Amino acid sequence: MAMRRALVIGGGIGGLAAAIGLHRTGWEVRVLERAPVLDDAGAGISLAANGVRALDALGVGAAVRAAAHPQYTGGTRTPDGRWLSRMDGAALERALGTPVVGIPRAALHRLLREALPAPCLRQGTGTLGDADADLVVAADGLRSGIRAELFPDHPGPVYSGSTVLRAITAEPVCTDHDFALTWGPGAEFGHIGFADGRAEWHAVLRAPAGVRHADPLSVLERRFAHWHRQVGELLAATRPGDVLHHDVHELATPLPAYAVGRVALLGDAAHAMTPNLGQGACQALEDAVVLAAELAGGGPVGAALARYDAVRRPRAGAVARAARRAGRMGHALTHPLAVAARNTALRLAPSGATVRAVLRPAAWTPPPLPPA
Ligand code: FAD
Repeated sequence: MAMRRALVIGGGIGGLAAAIGLHRTGWEVRVLERAPVLDDAGAGISLAANGVRALDALGVGAAVRAAAHPQYTGGTRTPDGRWLSRMDGAALERALGTPVVGIPRAALHRLLREALPAPCLRQGTGTLGDADADLVVAADGLRSGIRAELFPDHPGPVYSGSTVLRAITAEPVCTDHDFALTWGPGAEFGHIGFADGRAEWHAVLRAPAGVRHADPLSVLERRFAHWHRQVGELLAATRPGDVLHHDVHELATPLPAYAVGRVALLGDAAHAMTPNLGQGACQALEDAVVLAAELAGGGPVGAALARYDAVRRPRAGAVARAARRAGRMGHALTHPLAVAARNTALRLAPSGATVRAVLRPAAWTPPPLPPA
């Protein structure tokens, strides 16, 4: 039988992962990525167990685990440094085989690219019109042009009300914990540690979309001046030019389908969600494994994509809703009474409750992929 051909539009985490899965299961794959450098290459990412296990299924889990930093200690704090809840990475590891891991996005992208033969990767753009493939994977992200073509009546992404500034420190920093999240009224500051001692920090602020600062680092130094010591130390270890600033958008209206004809939508193109659970890329990785598994049998593409849609839409939709709820409970609270009530509830919650909140989306077992 002639090799079936797949065209993947978008070479982000989702597109590369899909290409790896399809390549491993016997497809001829071409990935089109329009950007010479990915937009968020200077940021970091945390991957929960479901993301790591998806990478295992794709054959790149060992390489990513080796390059990543396991997040064993950390939790949620108040601006004066008191702990609201602690996360026990060892308990997550016992339950799911791995704690959350942190890795620079550039390192993750490199490892994913290296898992594909170089000729699979092309720089360019794609639309449905120029594809002669048996399968098109729309992995073209939040502002997916393919989604807009297929679902012209869908309202598309909406602004979440929060803007994120983030950077990787220029040098190793001495952090007390592998990760931490600090919630103050209308603002959040967090960090994840990397294997080489550097860390990625992020600051989330409630602000109108599109507001940008000439010197974002100084703005943050002022905004977080009275927060606990670690925040200032992370900002001080950062080069001003390294700060990335993005407004957070999500697909608040779920898509009616993740597949139309021979086109599968995947990752942010299908279900861009707020980053509050650190699950967007993990869900893209799950999509990639399920897509490859459903298409591995050699049956009709349309039927395989219908199964992909049936498996993935409820799952990713539920995680997106959970992420939105988590966002409302965090930095989005501004009223002092609401902040106090949330903090008291977190302080009184049994320690297992925090682990369970992370366990729920992360407890996922990949379907088997045929051996490479
Ligand atoms: P993208 O990464 O957006 O990739 C799409 C690619 O398609 C882009 O490279 C683009 O250039 C390309 N493209 C677009 N149109 C075309 C075209 N016509 N032709 C060719 N190429 C095209 N997720 C986690 O799991 N853990 C986290 O810790 C985490 N933290 C986050 C923090 C923030 C602040 C944000 C905003 C998100 C976070 N996420 C996290 C979510 C995660 O970043 C995304 O869900 C994930 O990167 C989506 O990957 P993707 O491949 O679907 O889309």
